[in-house]
Amino acid sequence: MSKQEPIQEMICISCPLGCRLSLYKDEKEELTVTGNKCKRGVVYAEEEFYSPKRVVTCTCRAESMVLPRLPVRTTTALPKEHIDELLKAAYELTVKPPVSCGQVLIEDFNGTGVNLIASMSLARDRAPAR
Ligand code: SF4
Repeated sequence: MSKQEPIQEMICISCPLGCRLSLYKDEKEELTVTGNKCKRGVVYAEEEFYSPKRVVTCTCRAESMVLPRLPVRTTTALPKEHIDELLKAAYELTVKPPVSCGQVLIEDFNGTGVNLIASMSLARDRAPAR
């Protein structure tokens, strides 16, 4: 009898051990995870398999001579299917200083409950000295 091939393999990133996980589906379509050293690996694998999410970091345009691109990030992990659209929205966004670190720039993106926030503060440009 040949050994069943995993349907997916991944590294658990829930702790620094980085277990190599293998995912299998039985005849009832139930998911089995091997390679995990603790239960968190199963939770990670199931979430990554059924509804992968990522924290998104990028930049958006700022009306600033000092920092023309402001670093921004999502408050929590965003479902992967919304990432391209969020990056597009962030690319089209122009923020006007002053901006505070943590300030919400896009609220509840696509109804996901995830906000896009400023990763740093940005002051208004100073008027040039005369
Ligand atoms: S399965 Fe457990 S021990 Fe292994 S990387 Fe994930 S959290 Fe760490």
